[in-house]
Amino acid sequence: MRIVLLGAPGSGKGTQARRLMEEYASPHISTGDLLRAAVAAGTALGKKAKAAMEAGKLVADDIVIGMIRERLHVPDTRFGFILDGFPRSLPQARALDEMLEQEDKPLHKAILLKVDFEKLLKRLSGRRACKVCGHLYNIYFSPPKKPGVCDLDGGELLQRADDNEQTIRNRLTVYHEQTEPLIGYYQAQNKFVSVDGDGRVDEVFARIEKALP
Ligand code: AMP
Repeated sequence: MRIVLLGAPGSGKGTQARRLMEEYASPHISTGDLLRAAVAAGTALGKKAKAAMEAGKLVADDIVIGMIRERLHVPDTRFGFILDGFPRSLPQARALDEMLEQEDKPLHKAILLKVDFEKLLKRLSGRRACKVCGHLYNIYFSPPKKPGVCDLDGGELLQRADDNEQTIRNRLTVYHEQTEPLIGYYQAQNKFVSVDGDGRVDEVFARIEKALP
């Protein structure tokens, strides 16, 4: 199964992609995760990407397209993949189609997780992750028992560098201007499905499963 998860920052793509990975044994490929790892490792690619990420802007298409091209060559993608956060622009979507056409392995579906704007703001500004185990919390919707401390291992809870208010606004604007046009792109290919992204993780997951090919 080859699918793309579309949705604004904070719509739950990462969470749902991880669930899909467990259920369907297909790798979860997140350009955001790959870029954060490159920034943390201080690679040349990470250095190029850092400023755009901190500002909430898109990293240059050629950088992310190159990253995905490399990742899709890893044999674990042979039977499918779940893309999260890629494509985010029309040139990226076209590049992906070209890569997949060359292998004669077209995309099956592009699934949009739809969440309203106010909810997205709270999901992003309230998001915290344990420094030790990565467990996610939200100070509004799923707070830890003790503020700032992980329930599971007592680790410190951190906010992602780009989850501050100004950057969140920029990321949502970028989504609206550059990523939303992908809806029309995949509708024209009859691959687009929209799913209500509001609700508990397992409720949203059940809706996604219904939309799968
Ligand atoms: P995410 O974790 O998906 O919210 O991504 C975090 C940041 O990484 C974004 O705000 C962008 O700066 C950058 N990024 C992630 N995926 C892409 C992409 N496909 N194209 C350009 N920039 C990206």
